[in-house]
Amino acid sequence: LIAEAGLYTESDQIIILSPENVDSVIFNSTAALLVEFYATWCGHCVAFSPTWKNLARDIKEWKPAVDLAAIDCADESNRKVCTNFGITGYPSLKFFPAYSSRESKGQEFRGFSRDVRGLRHYIINKLEMHNETWPPACPPLETASEAEIDNVFQTDNVKLLALVFESKGSYVGREVTLDLLQYENIAVRRVLDTETSLVSSFGVTDFPSCYLYNSSGYISRLKVLNEARTFYSYALQRLPGVVRTGKPQIPINDLIKNSALQEWRPFNKTRVYMSDLESALHYSLRVELSGHISISGDDLIALKKYINVLAKYFPGRPSVKSALNTVDSWLQQQKGMEIKYSDFRDVLDNTVQTSDAVLPEGVQWVGCQGSQAHFRGYPCAVWTLFHVLTVQAKEMSSPDPQEVLQAMRRYVSSFFGCRPCATHFESMAQESMDHVTSLSTAVFWLWSRHNHVNNRLAGELSEDPHFPKIQWPSPELCPSCHGLRKTGEHSWNQEEVLTFLRNYFSSAHILTDYLR
Ligand code: FAD
Repeated sequence: LIAEAGLYTESDQIIILSPENVDSVIFNSTAALLVEFYATWCGHCVAFSPTWKNLARDIKEWKPAVDLAAIDCADESNRKVCTNFGITGYPSLKFFPAYSSRESKGQEFRGFSRDVRGLRHYIINKLEMHNETWPPACPPLETASEAEIDNVFQTDNVKLLALVFESKGSYVGREVTLDLLQYENIAVRRVLDTETSLVSSFGVTDFPSCYLYNSSGYISRLKVLNEARTFYSYALQRLPGVVRTGKPQIPINDLIKNSALQEWRPFNKTRVYMSDLESALHYSLRVELSGHISISGDDLIALKKYINVLAKYFPGRPSVKSALNTVDSWLQQQKGMEIKYSDFRDVLDNTVQTSDAVLPEGVQWVGCQGSQAHFRGYPCAVWTLFHVLTVQAKEMSSPDPQEVLQAMRRYVSSFFGCRPCATHFESMAQESMDHVTSLSTAVFWLWSRHNHVNNRLAGELSEDPHFPKIQWPSPELCPSCHGLRKTGEHSWNQEEVLTFLRNYFSSAHILTDYLR
């Protein structure tokens, strides 16, 4: 069921070229394009594909100015396209500047670097060579002079200027400029350490370092955990007043006042709430599953495994645990090929009358509240539930490292109402769930896949402007989770991330406010 196109799928955020779309994607485009021509059977292409995917994630924010594409030349239907571009070896990379004409064969990139950083720098070098056909969405990348800086505030939408002071060979300023291109009310420029007058008027001593300059002439240094691209971009995107293009923010106080539909429940954004977990159970067991009149085959296996994992690891109130145990025992006794949802539901609901076993009815989102009814809620609580379950399985030393993940995979595949989500999740599971060989890597796997999804969804319509999709946890939430390689690239400190997750999603840390 997964839309495979050679080595890449649509969730890799790479445009998959075909004879049908190639002309419209490459020619006369407002964005530049870097295309990988590959063959599925070529070992070097297989080895290079993770780098290409990582690059796509890394420069996702640059898409309006420069995008990535790929075409499988081993696919016979694509042969003519590859031949037309003169491709004879794989993988080949070709750069197409914005507004390339139909005659263009692209600029071949020979001896290209096999790492994301090198490729990113190449793209910047190529962008800078555009001259008169500059991609309209691409902000200026050249160094700023003192005179220009004073003129910036005359431009529409700019209330704040971020200046990255750096040496000539550094790419940080240009990378941050591109990372912010989809944000409004801010402009980013790079200033060289040789601009002595600016350096001294801002009092700059470190290179790189980032300073904020507003239209009233106020100067302050941007506070970051590390002086590097990822940290600057993250901090600038989150400054008050800086908004993603097309996503105006309503102040949260107005939301609270205007929320006529449901009373807004104040909550701590950095904690897990039991009310969300119980609401997820209610919604999945009483609403999502009820769409299936009878449940059989793989779906029945999926349901049994899901309920079994919940019965074992859901860190709930005794009454909820007892309700889950009752349903689990009943399900394990069902030896037929099929069950009726109504029978399942009777067991679930009868528990209310027969004992103290209760799964509360209805949903009451707390940490998963959205600023509008169509944001967050159930999918937020599904992620949270499974993070909690992977951590609980670790604490309780489950004998099977993949037990919770496989239950999640089956549940999502059989029942999760968001079908594109299910397809994407299955594609990630097929790609790497096999690598999970310990309970810690299970916790880690779910965290890293969730971040992949966050990266893909950042800026989408489904993103709640009050809860932007970030690479989580943020530097504020877990400073020690974030590190820096010698090259200046961001890195996750895996041990620290694991410690953080085990604490954040632990049963002792879950808040019970608002429980009914
Ligand atoms: P969510 O992403 O739902 O996260 C909930 C909370 O978990 C966050 O508030 C944060 O506290 C915490 N968190 C964030 N990142 C991590 C992390 N890496 N590790 C641990 N905790 C974290 N939507 C689509 O549009 N397309 C899809 O393909 C898609 N696939 C999905 C697949 C699955 C399996 C699920 C459960 C959901 C999927 N969704 C998809 C929905 C989407 O991921 C979000 O759940 C939804 O947009 C709500 O977002 P949110 O802001 O509440 O944060």
